[in-house]
Amino acid sequence: MLVALLSREQSRFFVSHLGTVEEIYRVKGQRIRGMLTDRVPRDRRDALANQLMKDEAKALASMTEVIGRELETSHFLLCAPPDMNAAFRAHLSKESLSRLGMFEANVHASPTEIGAAAAAIQEQLKVREERELVDQLREASPVAVSTGVQEALDCLSEGRVLTLIADDSYAADGTHCRQCGCLFETTQLSKCPACGETDLEPIDDLVEAALQQALERRAQVVFVRDPACRSALAEKAPLQALLRY
Ligand SMILES: [Zn+2]
Repeated sequence: MLVALLSREQSRFFVSHLGTVEEIYRVKGQRIRGMLTDRVPRDRRDALANQLMKDEAKALASMTEVIGRELETSHFLLCAPPDMNAAFRAHLSKESLSRLGMFEANVHASPTEIGAAAAAIQEQLKVREERELVDQLREASPVAVSTGVQEALDCLSEGRVLTLIADDSYAADGTHCRQCGCLFETTQLSKCPACGETDLEPIDDLVEAALQQALERRAQVVFVRDPACRSALAEKAPLQALLRY
């Protein structure tokens, strides 16, 4: 997750990963007020200061896009004074805006303080993401989603899964075919339904095996923890997939 703390004085960028927060970039503000000497007529100062602030917000927004792309951050947290906030957001991409959350922090805060302030918002963003995903599953065309655990596993081994969605509390054993790599929900197999071979092994954590396969096939994986989202998943299956095709 990328965290940006903006102010006219200085702007700071942090990356939060697995509970640790690290400052990665700091930019000094343009000392906007200080630049406006007596050479600028008094009645023009506010308009000019405002324009400079907007230009700076635009530059910071493009910096944010570059850093976010480079580090492949999943979410983006922003703390900024109201006028900078509006100017900054006006230059963010739609994609960044959809992953954006706001938080409050002092511009001189330590990475630890930033981490604490960000943690609560991160949780809210996660729930929002889960809800959007559940809506997406509900509204998707029937051919673009899996209908049961086994179908999700089949689509996974075929490389058709875009996003694998698992109820965080779902645990099951299953079967793995050493020959073709397919995973099966049932443990009562004498030969692989996909390739016909008998080289099968029992596995005690089907979700972990599916997760591995999803990562190998570059599918996104989302674990659902929000109670309302989990019961929405339960209507169909604790393991579902949004499909590429
Ligand atoms: Zn097989």
